[in-house]
Amino acid sequence: MAEAKKFRAIKGVRDILPPESALWNRVEQTARDVFATFGFQEIRLPIFEQTELFARSVGVNTDIVGKEMYSFADRDDTSISLRPEATASVVRAYIEHGMHSRPGDVKLYYMGPMFRRERPQKGRYRQFYQIGAEVLGQSDQPAIDAEVLEMLMVYLERLGLVGAKLHLNSIGCQECRPKYVEKLREALLEVINELGADSQRRIETNPLRVLDSKTPDEQAIIEKLPRIGDHLCASCRDHFAQVQQQLKQRGIAYEINWRLVRGLDYYMRTTFEITAPGLGAQNAICGGGRYDGLVELLGGPPTKGIGFAIGTDRLVLALQEVGAGDVKAEVRKDVTVPVTGVVLKAEVGRVKVEVGIDVFVAWMGAASQPAAVKIVRKLREAGLSVEVPAEEMKFKKSIGLAAKLGARFALIIGENELKEGKYALKRLADGHQESLSEADLLAQLKAAQA
Ligand code: ATP
Ligand code: MG
Repeated sequence: MAEAKKFRAIKGVRDILPPESALWNRVEQTARDVFATFGFQEIRLPIFEQTELFARSVGVNTDIVGKEMYSFADRDDTSISLRPEATASVVRAYIEHGMHSRPGDVKLYYMGPMFRRERPQKGRYRQFYQIGAEVLGQSDQPAIDAEVLEMLMVYLERLGLVGAKLHLNSIGCQECRPKYVEKLREALLEVINELGADSQRRIETNPLRVLDSKTPDEQAIIEKLPRIGDHLCASCRDHFAQVQQQLKQRGIAYEINWRLVRGLDYYMRTTFEITAPGLGAQNAICGGGRYDGLVELLGGPPTKGIGFAIGTDRLVLALQEVGAGDVKAEVRKDVTVPVTGVVLKAEVGRVKVEVGIDVFVAWMGAASQPAAVKIVRKLREAGLSVEVPAEEMKFKKSIGLAAKLGARFALIIGENELKEGKYALKRLADGHQESLSEADLLAQLKAAQA
């Protein structure tokens, strides 16, 4: 009798076994808890899509689409691909379900496997996992960029990841980027003979990617190339400056890296990456940025967007590397996250589910914004889900939006409150309002949560 064949997992694909799977659960649960306090809700997406969706959004000339996708012809001959990333699917779903008509910004997160046919090595797999989040809406206020980054850093800190570094750049917009890319291309053509084959090819296909080169011989040459920061248009320059100011206001450390470009076509303006110690060459645990034109590119209404994707495999490795991978940490008091006070109103038998938030912060006057940002961080740390507009809104509009979002309370911060160091808390169900100190405010809201 023939010996039974021994099967092994496909190259670059692996099993996640216990006890490590418990750490994965902690990483995912903490994301759910922290993201909920920032008003994000989960979207569950398909694992495969039409190939064209990725070609159109990620870009035909990117490595991801050009070389790394798992594509196959379905029985009806449509070309299908396993998703190499999920932003394209989020945007497809946003358009397909008319989500632009929802009140406020649409804030979504997802988690799950992605597929890229790369050379497997430590921290690089063919089936890997991402935890990502996206904000889609009408506003491109720098405070949105800063809040997304704040959420990321709060999340990593909550997990106990020490030594994570935020690298930041702006890659301009449709106005200024093409002009810069042309300058870059000209400069690259002057040194073409000193470059390797990959970079030579990219001069034509995707010159920005040359900046990403890790080839030692090319480093000195790249350092002398024109820098995007010197070629941003006035509005991009201003946007970038404000993002940085908003980050400082939130106490978030970052480093500007002018060579940080992303391997996907849809990014513009703010781009970022987070690196972690102990991972060798594959040290990027998160990448993201702004993609204001993408919804339109895929046939939707004009919409702004920003998001990120965390590489879960690398995040788990990084946590183990810094000694925060102990699964017992799950039951330690100091790292557990309080469950958020999300209000659920479900109508049994029907599919109507309204999900509310705990607090909507109505701030008035530019001077109130920093105060709002500070108190919001504390409320979120207490496990409350809090929404704070990125730009100033008239009082009536604020309260209207708070109601549409199903907020239980509106926290009002204006000139008077700033002067008195007090907060006005309004219960939206009956309009009851009182003036509270910070300590009383936290105590009241926590009591209301229970
Ligand atoms: P890299 O430069 O490391 O190839 P990338 O720019 O291709 O990363 P993104 O497409 O921005 O990565 O994806 C976001 C994150 O997903 C990365 O920062 C990384 O942590 C993770 N990631 C990407 N590709 C892989 C892979 N093949 N295996 C494991 N994790 C990955
Ligand atoms: Mg890659």
